[in-house]
Amino acid sequence: MGARVEWSGVSLRMALPVGILWGGAASMAAVTAWLIKRASKVVTLYDGAVVLFLLIMMVSMFVSVVDYIYAPSITTLFVLFAANMVSMSIFLIPIVASLMYGGKKLDDVGIGGLTLLGAFQLAAVALVIAAEVFMGWAFTLASGAVLPAGSGGGAYAALVGSISSYWFVFTMAGEMAITLYLLRDRLQKAVWTVVGAQVFIMLFSPTAIDSSVWARYSTYLGSVAMIVLFIYIFEFLFMNRSLDRGTSDYLVRILLAYGIMMAGIFSWLLFGNEEVFALSLLVEMAVYFSAIIRDKGSGGMQLESWQSRPLWVFAVLSFLFVAEFFMGAAIDVYAYGTAYFTSIPLVPIAGSIQGAVAAAGYDFIRYFSAVTASAWYLIMMGIEMGALVLFKIRYARELETKVRLGMVIGAYAIYAVFLPYFVFPTTVQYIPWVGWSMGIGTAGALAPAVALALLGTYFVSGLLSFFFGSRNVCSVFCTAALMYQGTAIDAMSSFNRTSKLGRRFLTSRLSATYKWVVSLVWFSLVAAAALSYLNSIGLVDVTLFGTDTSFFLYSFYFSFLWYIVWILIPFVGTYACATTGLCGWGSFNHLISRFGLFRLKVKDSDTCVTCPTKDCAKVCPVGITDQPGSFIGTGQLKSMKCIGVGDCVTACPYQNIYFYDIRAWLRERLHGAKPPATRGTMLPVLRIWHVSGAGPHTEDE
Ligand code: SF4
Ligand code: SF4
Repeated sequence: MGARVEWSGVSLRMALPVGILWGGAASMAAVTAWLIKRASKVVTLYDGAVVLFLLIMMVSMFVSVVDYIYAPSITTLFVLFAANMVSMSIFLIPIVASLMYGGKKLDDVGIGGLTLLGAFQLAAVALVIAAEVFMGWAFTLASGAVLPAGSGGGAYAALVGSISSYWFVFTMAGEMAITLYLLRDRLQKAVWTVVGAQVFIMLFSPTAIDSSVWARYSTYLGSVAMIVLFIYIFEFLFMNRSLDRGTSDYLVRILLAYGIMMAGIFSWLLFGNEEVFALSLLVEMAVYFSAIIRDKGSGGMQLESWQSRPLWVFAVLSFLFVAEFFMGAAIDVYAYGTAYFTSIPLVPIAGSIQGAVAAAGYDFIRYFSAVTASAWYLIMMGIEMGALVLFKIRYARELETKVRLGMVIGAYAIYAVFLPYFVFPTTVQYIPWVGWSMGIGTAGALAPAVALALLGTYFVSGLLSFFFGSRNVCSVFCTAALMYQGTAIDAMSSFNRTSKLGRRFLTSRLSATYKWVVSLVWFSLVAAAALSYLNSIGLVDVTLFGTDTSFFLYSFYFSFLWYIVWILIPFVGTYACATTGLCGWGSFNHLISRFGLFRLKVKDSDTCVTCPTKDCAKVCPVGITDQPGSFIGTGQLKSMKCIGVGDCVTACPYQNIYFYDIRAWLRERLHGAKPPATRGTMLPVLRIWHVSGAGPHTEDE
């Protein structure tokens, strides 16, 4: 674990009693909160000038205190006093000038796209942050902390250290809480909830108190608060498909701030470096105060569907992923020690350009997959995405879908996390299906000892795919089912139809791209597996920088590329692992399924002929859009691409579709051909969710 920045040098001569300092910090927090409230209500030039004047005076006062502490002398005192008087006089001028314009409104005056009100808000936020930084710095030094030796780097280290210290962090958290209280009636409910969570997360800053117990538990508590917040944000997005610009900008910024914050915590734990974390606190403050000062409620603001903003969704997914990634990595450090990362054998980036690029790529993927294949990362992602799947169970109509989604959560917990990481981490690779859950490379090198378990895995999984379709893997056991089927992520399946690349993979037929990709993937898998096997029996000596070829390829496909493709949902659609042919394991099961018993059937083809909505074609998460034609022509849909998620079954307003697999096949043989009975029509709220892409609350829109 990293240590807090150690300052060295001379002690502060006049260390003040801590009680007085905390009293001062609390008063300043209250004054700043009041100023922020005033700033949020500013309308006229005069109001704006007064608020800016007060903020400038505050900054100037704390700059002076810091300056004096570094160079305490009568001369410094005199110079600082004079400087404050001069700046006060200068900044009084705008106030006097603004009086001449009476009640002229700030948003009446604009330059380019920026109104004076916008410029005022930016300046107010910048000044509040500057005041806080210098206040934290001043209080840290005044509390008797050891001053940095020399200037330049020393003062910089002190600044970074003071931003990460409790003087800054706790004062800020208090100030944020007071502001939130003062402005409780003005903020939209969702913004209020998210900024409220920000206060807690700020409070649980691990660098704040120089104690390993605090660092550990504040990291845990901060992570829990962040996970709850992320779940809330995603559910909010699911329920609100249209957002005003202010809210959508705020959400993406706060996710960015948390991405930087978790990266900062990881960097601090691993290298003892506080800079990134300190930066994240400043970004978080800027986001917070911008939201507080600028939020005027969404009344009158134009709403825009986020499903029509791929770049925005991309930013949301990327920042969320970065935050989760570093959160998992930070907890890994606590769970396994820094050696978990520092012992990864990295290849020196040297030699020819190609060699250096290959080494850099290798090192990057090793580090990346060390996190994404770690237990804590999977647990965090699992809790977050699992909560969204739980929410989806609420809306699912068919018992079969509810049960399947329950199995998705259970399978993830048991099959992806509990068994391999906590029960038998070393022996798991010898157990068919569990140990080799994703095919070649899952559990390491392909050695003779594990060959039978691997073949057994293909056999068991293939058999299940033959009887039940590839849904046993892609819609239940694969971690992707959890990652793609929660409420908000499922709503992103609209990108399958709107994105340029996603459209290439529509319909039940396999595109030319799919055929190329899947061929390449299988060629690479087989070649790597052959090398891995020959290597393990000592016939050849081929590894990739010392790593087994199969294992590395597995890490590349499932622990790296898979997440990249997930983040790219707005450009390639959901379940791109299945639609593009990127997943060798998936394509194997899809192929078996194609020749197996699984298919979708309709009870009555004529209903499809007259069906006015053709809803089944609009909801498929893998982009199968030609169900109606297939149902009308053959009464069924049998496609290698169908992974049996069943959204079409839920969406059909006539409840016409049903799953046909080994169970229906046996029923037919035992009781004759009989489709399942219809169970009433779909609730309108469910139809809105599944078809129009609007959340349940938007029924009135
Ligand atoms: S295609 Fe592969 S990664 Fe995607 S859901 Fe299926 S098995 Fe999982
Ligand atoms: S929505 Fe139902 S009735 Fe309409 S075409 Fe699809 S399966 Fe047929």
